[in-house]
Amino acid sequence: MSVITMKFGGTSVGSAEAISNVVAIVQESQQRGDEVIVVVSAMSGVTDALLKSVRLAASGDRWGYLSISQELRERHEEVIHQLIPPNGSREKLLAEIASLLDQHVEFCQAVSILGEATPRIMDAVVSYGERLSSRVVAAVMREGQLNAAAYDASQFVITDDKYQSATPLWEETQQRISHQLVPLLRQGIIPVVTGFIGMTLDGHFTTLGRGGSDFSGAIFAACMNSDELIIWTDVDGVMTADPRLDRRARVLPYISYSEVGELAFYGAKVLHPKTVQPILEKGIPCRVRNTFNPQHPGTLIGQNGETTSTVIKAVTSIRNVSLLTVSGRGMLGVPGIAGRTFLATAKAGANILMISQSSSEQSFCFTVTDDMADRVKTAIENELGEEIARRNIDRVEIQSDIVIITTVGAGMRGIPGVAGRVFTVLGNNQINVVAIAQGSSECSISFIVDEVNLECAVVALHDLALEAVEEDTR
Ligand code: ASP
Ligand code: MG
Repeated sequence: MSVITMKFGGTSVGSAEAISNVVAIVQESQQRGDEVIVVVSAMSGVTDALLKSVRLAASGDRWGYLSISQELRERHEEVIHQLIPPNGSREKLLAEIASLLDQHVEFCQAVSILGEATPRIMDAVVSYGERLSSRVVAAVMREGQLNAAAYDASQFVITDDKYQSATPLWEETQQRISHQLVPLLRQGIIPVVTGFIGMTLDGHFTTLGRGGSDFSGAIFAACMNSDELIIWTDVDGVMTADPRLDRRARVLPYISYSEVGELAFYGAKVLHPKTVQPILEKGIPCRVRNTFNPQHPGTLIGQNGETTSTVIKAVTSIRNVSLLTVSGRGMLGVPGIAGRTFLATAKAGANILMISQSSSEQSFCFTVTDDMADRVKTAIENELGEEIARRNIDRVEIQSDIVIITTVGAGMRGIPGVAGRVFTVLGNNQINVVAIAQGSSECSISFIVDEVNLECAVVALHDLALEAVEEDTR
């Protein structure tokens, strides 16, 4: 008997049809004799709607947040009416949904009186998305003869108080899961747990960051010692490229944790970047599968890098990023400039995606998301004010019409000539490379090109990845 943690994303619980698929998937797994823990996202679009409701509340738009609450009620009720016959349990569920949404309105009222929403209140408000969906999914499962019950993850996942991007306190979380969740499984209950949310030790809701339900899935898989984590989503698996950029994109049968980590970091939205960490340590395999095409085996994510001759496995890209360049002849050999720049960037609240410095030390550059670029530039100019006044630093420049492209593949480790192949392909296509970075994990090469070259570069590099897939299937 295996213990399987299954996480279902927003589209997988986003409609009556999707939820029926979820039930069938769990039924099948149970018939095979597995013990299943289900972790769910909010119905697709609900988290965004909840965030919008708080913003409207903060600006005093009472009609705005009330109508969002009403829309949410209708959306959940519609699914309930479609999937649960009129009986006592339907009534009970409808009352529960109504009561959660009433609480949501009360929060919005409080926010509108205060005229502002703190991150703590935002987390409390968005928690309703998953708390609603988990109850609906569990109730529909019970209709399907599964012994399911909904639980708020706040009961199990204890986190620090970094609202909107909280980190689990592992020991506390492990204890709660061992003492409170494991016994449920042993009683034959299928817990349907909210993804995305946790709670501080002193009892306030937190969230793990947007898209954080994947991370929740991994937390439960790790703390339950699951034999497998399955991330059920709306695509067949991890793809070799973004199918919107290249229709030849294919599903990878296998990818390693470190490769998928690079992919997630560099823009492929298959897995939340933090997902890998808890299951990696325990060596738990993870599979990405399609709720709408459950026959497809999906992509297996495992410990080992490939030993095949595959070099580049996948190509990914990040748009909406800006390149900041700090340059000046006077920087040569002056220690600390990069350090102070990055510290100033961090203090401005921006995350650095990629860094590159030329060995002449006359400039270095790094990327942040577009919305942060101006703020970061000002922060750096303040930090380096003296050096700028002394002309040791000439300028801090922003270039925003660029994209980061990353080629990923563990097979490139220690193999000479991979970077050569990548840049030859770009050269052959007359694509200018603005900056380059390779992590020391040697599992990816990232570089920056002008946005106009995005599609051409991805398609050209994807040729290399497709060769690799063919070798794989031989
Ligand atoms: N519902 C949350 C979000 O939309 C978490 C998740 O779905 O992973 O960000
Ligand atoms: Mg997601």
